[in-house]
Amino acid sequence: MSNLKLSEAIQLGAMLAPQGFERYKEDGRTCALGAACEAIAGSPLDVASRWPFCKQQTRCPACSWWFLLFVFTLGRTSVERVIVHLNDDHRWTRERIADWVAAIEFTSIPALVEHRQLGEQLQHVSGT
Ligand SMILES: [Zn+2]
Repeated sequence: MSNLKLSEAIQLGAMLAPQGFERYKEDGRTCALGAACEAIAGSPLDVASRWPFCKQQTRCPACSWWFLLFVFTLGRTSVERVIVHLNDDHRWTRERIADWVAAIEFTSIPALVEHRQLGEQLQHVSGT
């Protein structure tokens, strides 16, 4: 259990309780981070300490340019906050959120998170 990846914890927690919104856990429902908490029997604080990449800066994979403007105006946002945002605002399923987390959790340098997402747009240009 201690080597559980965050994406796996979200998927596991999603099987334990139906999806909820706006709260980590309420009425037996959990959001994406709440599901991860359930899986490790911990609190939201444990999520950040167990998976430090949660504090890395990233961007929302679903938002259009106006959210980027918001992000650059009010401060960059963390993986942790994007997970909550995808759950509450985009109403992504926790399985879908887990897929997104799985795609970024192997990158340990913030710049690489940026690069990976930018890279998807630049692939055709650079041919790499
Ligand atoms: Zn968004």
